[in-house]
Amino acid sequence: MNSRKSAMAEIASATNVENAERFSNFVDEFGRDVFGIKTMSDYLPKPVYKKLIATINTGKAIDSSIADDVAHAMKRWAIERGATHYTHWFMPLTGASAEKHDSFLEPDGEGGVIARFSGKNLIMGEPDASSFPSGGLRSTFEARGYTAWDPTSPAFIKRAAGVATLYIPTAFCSYTGEVLDKKTPLLRSMQVLGTQAKRLLKCFGKSFEGRATVTLGAEQEYFLIDKRFYVQRPDLMQTGRTLFGAPPQRHQQLEDHYFGAIKPRILSFMNDLDRELWRMGIPAKTRHNEVAPAQFEIAPMFEELNLAVDHNMLIMDALKRIADKHCFACLLHEKPFAGVNGSGKHNNWSISVGDINLLNPGYDPHQNAIFLTSLCAVIQAVDLHADLLRATIAGAGNDQRLGANEAPPAIISMYLGEQLSDIVEQIEHGGAKSSKHGKNLKIGADILPVLPCDATDRNRTSPFAFTGNKFEFRAAGSSQSCASPNIVLNTAVAESFDEIATKLESLPKGADFHNELQKILSSIIRKHKKIIFNGNNYGDAWRKEAAKRGLPNYPTTPEAIKLFIKKENIEFFEKYGVFNEVELKSRYEVFLEEYTRKIEIEAGLALKMARTHVIPAISSYLARLGESLEVERRVGGGKKSKLSELVERVSSRLNAAIDAADFLEREILKKNELPKIISAMNNLRKVADAAEGEVDNDLWPLPKYCEMLFVY
Ligand code: ADP
Ligand code: MG
Repeated sequence: MNSRKSAMAEIASATNVENAERFSNFVDEFGRDVFGIKTMSDYLPKPVYKKLIATINTGKAIDSSIADDVAHAMKRWAIERGATHYTHWFMPLTGASAEKHDSFLEPDGEGGVIARFSGKNLIMGEPDASSFPSGGLRSTFEARGYTAWDPTSPAFIKRAAGVATLYIPTAFCSYTGEVLDKKTPLLRSMQVLGTQAKRLLKCFGKSFEGRATVTLGAEQEYFLIDKRFYVQRPDLMQTGRTLFGAPPQRHQQLEDHYFGAIKPRILSFMNDLDRELWRMGIPAKTRHNEVAPAQFEIAPMFEELNLAVDHNMLIMDALKRIADKHCFACLLHEKPFAGVNGSGKHNNWSISVGDINLLNPGYDPHQNAIFLTSLCAVIQAVDLHADLLRATIAGAGNDQRLGANEAPPAIISMYLGEQLSDIVEQIEHGGAKSSKHGKNLKIGADILPVLPCDATDRNRTSPFAFTGNKFEFRAAGSSQSCASPNIVLNTAVAESFDEIATKLESLPKGADFHNELQKILSSIIRKHKKIIFNGNNYGDAWRKEAAKRGLPNYPTTPEAIKLFIKKENIEFFEKYGVFNEVELKSRYEVFLEEYTRKIEIEAGLALKMARTHVIPAISSYLARLGESLEVERRVGGGKKSKLSELVERVSSRLNAAIDAADFLEREILKKNELPKIISAMNNLRKVADAAEGEVDNDLWPLPKYCEMLFVY
């Protein structure tokens, strides 16, 4: 039996034990491993607790006078929960998270040890930063970097293999102050947006204490395949996607997987996952089967952006960890399987000040005016910075997905739905008689017709859709951190708010506020409505239409990431203090290098697999056919033999595979011609996948799509 078949036999004979752990009381379990508000008040002296909460609410740096007390309480709590170690946890530019564990252990000077964790240990760490990508920001000989506690994201305990460790979310900077991570610019952009949002609301006569809240709900798609197949696919293990594999006859055509009944083995995994996430205070809410076979989704309830981004990193980590425990491999790559849907991460974004969600169409004219102003601000922001939004979701993985007939295209446009588009049109014409609902909407005087959430959410093809009380950016890739798109979104909307507020603030005394506002919004719509598109985003018609409208289209990563260092874009980020030029250039270098290395790895591996898996399989089949041909000749057959035609066909497939592999090798050796390498790799795949459809099933060494996607 070949190893594929023995894997299948094992999977088939495994019994589904009903051993799901149950929560005795899941409400009480929620957040047990988080050093959150409640725990803080239990463990901290009152005055310290009050100071810490004030720090968190205002987003200011922590007062060093309370650091020792907070650290001491955190240590006591963590040790009670079973932790022996702590780590500063940060988001370097690799896109993954980073950690280095230190134990609480310290010598007591008398030959024994004590458990110690000082305020200094809590507030600041000094990881050797030399091996993290910095894009030339630091040379390795002066590779000092430091991590600084971000108190807006609470410390928590992560458990893996029964080992409990205290995690402290931190920002990561170089000693010269340049940021080396994804969290710092995110926090900066949140602050900028919050400031401008409050300023804008002040124009509407609303003042608020405290911070504005940018919110994010990140829906996460993923694949699960049995680990026994995974370990037989060097491509999945090393690149996250299959470099070879013919799509099975049946995959998602019947549309029977989406929202289908969840298989017990999957449910058991999801149960463990939710349990783990809840304990870490992550509000996992929704779980379901996705469109492709073996594809699933988890969606938490929305939270403050910074926390939601951290939580999404933890969700991705938990997905992999828990999958392994259940003998699955969790694939987070944007396109693990060619020919079936890839995975995205829907970025649901909004902003609230006090109890007002700025993107919530309200029930009174005043709230409507705030909503419509915010809506127009987002329209302007997305139109002006569509290029940067595109750049933030670039990457070798997402290149495989964007633009296919299942994922939003690389062209950024906005979906508002029919009703809201009609309203926007009315505003543009300042109360023209074009309303489909027989109304002339006047800002500040009229009430919006009720916009049912589901009516705004029918279009699934748009990369950026209004969905009731938030915008959903759907082009983000499943493996990517949500930080980057939100940094751009926050800064871009802050810029729009800034511009509108400046105009409103300079209105002369006695001006008709709503009349003037109507003029401002109408001019925004006239300028930026080209970004609105409610039709089908898939396919050629839209590509042509978008080009006519002058919308940017950067289909591949190298073109897209260059936008980070475009002069206007550097000025834009510098104006709001989110990135400086040096930081943007370093980011560009890091992303380009990452992209190049990924393509090189894929190409090198494709070549190896062709030579060690595909070509030997075709050749063994040919040898076997040759033996049959011998037999046929011996018994007197062979004249006009169909078998000899088959032998010829397989032989020509073998030649084609050898040729395609040799060709790829030459392209790799030439270097620097990534598009040519990619095309050679695609060509090799085509030849190999065709051979898969012909070679004896017993001789094919790589688990097939029909097995990985259906046998679990
Ligand atoms: P979908 O139809 O896209 O699956 P869901 O309602 O299941 O929509 O999930 C959408 C996500 O949007 C959830 O994570 C939800 O918590 C989040 N969400 C809802 N309201 C807001 C908001 N005001 N800001 C940010 N995210 C939100
Ligand atoms: Mg969704």
